[in-house]
Amino acid sequence: MDRKRDSLKSLKIFENRLVVVVGAGVSGLAACRFLLSMGARVRLVDAKADLSQDVLLKVTDNPAAAALTLEVGPHRPEQFSDAHLVVLSPGVPVKKLAVVLAGVEPWRVVAEMEFASWFLDEPVIAITGTNGKTTTTTLVGHILEHAGLTPFVGGNIGTPLCDYLMRDAAADVLVIEISSFQLQNCRTFAPRVAALLNFSANHLDYHLDMEEYLSAKLNLFARQDHGALAIAPAAMREELEARGFTKAQRDYFSADTDFDCPGLPGEHNRENIAAAWRMVRPFGVTEAQARAAIAAFKALPHRIEPVGEAAGVVFVNDSKATTLDSVAAAVKSFNRPVRLLMGGVFKGGVVEDILPALKERVVSVGLFGASREVFEPALAPHFPVSWDQTLEAAVRRQFSLAKPGDAILLSPATASFDAYSGYTERGRDFARVAAALAAEVRS
Ligand code: ADP
Repeated sequence: MDRKRDSLKSLKIFENRLVVVVGAGVSGLAACRFLLSMGARVRLVDAKADLSQDVLLKVTDNPAAAALTLEVGPHRPEQFSDAHLVVLSPGVPVKKLAVVLAGVEPWRVVAEMEFASWFLDEPVIAITGTNGKTTTTTLVGHILEHAGLTPFVGGNIGTPLCDYLMRDAAADVLVIEISSFQLQNCRTFAPRVAALLNFSANHLDYHLDMEEYLSAKLNLFARQDHGALAIAPAAMREELEARGFTKAQRDYFSADTDFDCPGLPGEHNRENIAAAWRMVRPFGVTEAQARAAIAAFKALPHRIEPVGEAAGVVFVNDSKATTLDSVAAAVKSFNRPVRLLMGGVFKGGVVEDILPALKERVVSVGLFGASREVFEPALAPHFPVSWDQTLEAAVRRQFSLAKPGDAILLSPATASFDAYSGYTERGRDFARVAAALAAEVRS
C-alpha cells in the first residue's frame, strides 16, 4: 500500500466532490470508475443525444445507488459551473468546449491522461508524433517485456491510464501513446522519457495552423527537468533547439539503425525503431536484447499489412494511413509497382508534397468516396487516375488493370468517416474484397 495513488486515495481528496467527466468512451468510463473509487460524485456528460443510460453499467453494477449520473445532448455551461474538476476524454477537442467552459477556472480542466498521471510513481515513457505512435508504443512495450521488465502499454491505445490505476499490480514502466488533443491541455505532465517521432500536417481541420499543432506536441517536453530524456527527430534538431523546447537531456534520432525487423518495412519504420531503441536504453535494455526483440516483432494490422494475393497481385492494407506523410512512407517501402487507393475525409496538407515519393513506385491511382476534388487535380497530371463511389469498386477497377507482381495498396490519406465507422472497418472491407477477388480468380 505504499503506492502514491493509495496514499492519495486514503486522503479522500475527492470525497463528495463533484467531478464532471466529458465523453463516455473507453477513457471517460475508466475515469468515472477511478473517481468513484476515490469517493467522488461523478457527472458524466456526452454530446451524443441518443446515448443510453445503460452505458453506466460499464462503470458500476448499480448505477442507481452510485454517485454517478449521465447527461446527454449538447453541452451547457451549467453542467460545468459547479464542478470541482472537469476531466476530458482523449477525443474531446478542448477548444470546441471553450464557450461552455468559460465559467470554469482553467486549472480545473484536465485531460484524463494527465489526471491519471497525478497518481503515478512509476516512470513514464510518453510517445507522440504525427505518424507511428501506435507502432512505436507497441514496439517499445514489446522490447521492454522481452528484456524481462513488466511494462504497461496504453494511454491513447488499449487500456486507459485510469484503468491501470485500478489494478493491484504495479508495472516497472508505463509506455503511453499521447495525442495532440491531450497535450494541448497538459499543465503538469512530465514524463521521464518523452519522444516526438515526427511532425507533419494533420488535424488542420481542428488546429488553427501548423504552429498551434506543433506547440501542442512540444508541450510534452515543457515540464521535463534535467534528469529526464527528450527524444526527437534529427531533422528537427535546429528548430527545436532554437525554441529551447525542454530542460531535459536531448537525444536525436534518424533512420540510423541496423536492427533488423521484417515486421516493420520501410525507411519510416527504421526511424521508429531508432527512436524506440533510444527510449528503452535508459531502462537497462542491452543492445542484444533489443536486437532479438525487434527481430521478432510482428506487423500491426492496418499498417502496411499484406492481406492477400490474387493472380500474382498482392493486396496491402494500410488503412491506418490517415495523413499524406504516412502514404508517402508506405509507397516508399515497396520495391514493386504500386496501384494506390486513396479517398475519404481529408484532414489537411498539400497533396503535391508527396508527388516525388509517389512517382518512384505508383503506376495508377484509384480514388474512392469523398475528397475527389482534393486528390484528382493534384494527381491526374502525373498518373492515370480513376474514381469510384465505393472502395470495393475502386479495388476491382485497380485489379482489372494490375499485372502479376503489382501491389494494390490501400493507403488512403484520410479519415474514413464518409463511409465507415473507423479505419479498422475500412481495412477489413478492403481485406474482404481482396479475399473475394482471390476466390473469383481460383474458381
Ligand atoms: P499513429 O498511432 O500515430 O496513427 P500508427 O503506428 O498507427 O501511427 O501508423 C499510422 C500510419 O502511419 C500507418 O499507415 C503507418 O504505416 C504510418 N507510419 C508509421 N510510422 C511512420 C513514420 N515514422 N512516418 C510516416 N508514416 C508512418
